[in-house]
Amino acid sequence: MLRRGLRGTVGMVELRRLTTWRTGGPALAAEVSSAEELSLVLRTCTEVEAPWFVLGLGSNILASDSGCRRLVVRLTGGMRSHSWSGADDAPVLRCGAGAHLPSLSGSACTRGAAGLEFAVGIPGTVGGAVFMNAGAYGGSMSALVSSVTVLDSDGRKRIIPVGECGFEYRRSRFQEEESVIASAELRLEPGNPEELRSEARRILALRRSSFPLDLPNAGSVFRKPSGDIPPGRLIEDTGLKGRREGGAMVSPLHANFIVNTGNATSADIRRLIDLVRDTVYRNSGVMLEEEIRYLGWSVDD
Ligand SMILES: Cc1cc2nc3c(=O)[nH]c(=O)nc-3n(C[C@H](O)[C@H](O)[C@H](O)COP(=O)(O)OP(=O)(O)OC[C@H]3O[C@@H](n4cnc5c(N)ncnc54)[C@H](O)[C@@H]3O)c2cc1C
Repeated sequence: MLRRGLRGTVGMVELRRLTTWRTGGPALAAEVSSAEELSLVLRTCTEVEAPWFVLGLGSNILASDSGCRRLVVRLTGGMRSHSWSGADDAPVLRCGAGAHLPSLSGSACTRGAAGLEFAVGIPGTVGGAVFMNAGAYGGSMSALVSSVTVLDSDGRKRIIPVGECGFEYRRSRFQEEESVIASAELRLEPGNPEELRSEARRILALRRSSFPLDLPNAGSVFRKPSGDIPPGRLIEDTGLKGRREGGAMVSPLHANFIVNTGNATSADIRRLIDLVRDTVYRNSGVMLEEEIRYLGWSVDD
C-alpha cells in the first residue's frame, strides 16, 4: 500500500551501505528532494499507518542485521542545498537538512564566516547534527542555530526558534517528537578566511591523531556522564581497549569508539556495547548511556 501511494520514490536498500559502521540489513527507503515530496511521504505514511525513520548519513546509527520495518526517509537533491545571506559582519547560512556538515564548514571558512570550524570532521548532515546537537572542541549546533523548520507527521510545516529547540548536551526536543527537520538557519560571526581554514586544519589533524578513522565506526558510542571523567577514560580503566566480539573491537586508540574490523555484524557491536556498559558499571559505579541511536531492534521498529 505504501509503495503504491509513493510510486517511483521507494526501493529496497541495505542499511550497511548507508551507515558508517557498515552494518545493518534491508529496509524500504524513500528519497525526497524537496519539502513538498517530504510532506507527501509523511502524509502517506500517516494515512496507511506506516512507521518511518529519517536517516541522515548514518554516522550515529546502529541498524539491526535484520533491517527495519520502518520506511527509511532520505533527504536528497534540493534538501542538501544551502545559501548565504546577511551582511558581511553578520553572515546567515540557510541549509537543507540533508546538507553535508563538513562541506558547510569548509564553505563557511572560505567565506570568512566563523563558528562552524568545530564541525569540519563530523561526518553527518545538518538534520542529524541539529537532532543530536552535535558538537566538538567547545562548539555545538545549539550555539549557531537561530531557527529550525520541521515537518510534522501530517506533513505540516512549523518554524521553531532556537529558544524552543530544547538544546542540551547532545539533546534536542526533536529526539522527543515525531517530526522531520527540513532545514535550519545558522547565524555565524565574521572571521578571517585564512585563520578559519588554519583552525579547521588544526582540528582535523587533532581528530586524525585521536580517533580510529581508518576503520568503520560511529564516533563516540557513549555520552559523557555527569561528572568529570570522560567515557573513554572510564572504559580504558577497565582494560577493555582492544577487546573483541566477533568483528567488533573497542578501539585501542580511543576506548569510546567501537570499530568494525572488517566483518562485524550489528549484533557483535551491540554485544560489545553491553559488555562495556556492564564492565564500566562494575568497575566504577557509573552507568554509561549510549549516544548512538538504534534502528530496527524491536518488533515494531
Ligand atoms: C568518525 C566520526 C566522528 C564523529 N564525531 C562527532 C563529534 O565530534 N561530535 C558529535 O557530536 N558527533 C560526532 N559523531 C556522530 C555523528 O556524526 C553526529 O551525531 C551527526 O550529527 C549525525 O548526523 P547524521 O546525518 O549521520 O545522522 P544519523 O546518524 O543518520 O541519524 C542520527 C539521528 O538523527 C536523526 N535525524 C537525522 N536527520 C534528521 C532529520 N532531518 N530530521 C529529524 N531527525 C533526523 C535520525 O533519525 C537519528 O535518530 C561522529 C561520528 C563519526 C562516524
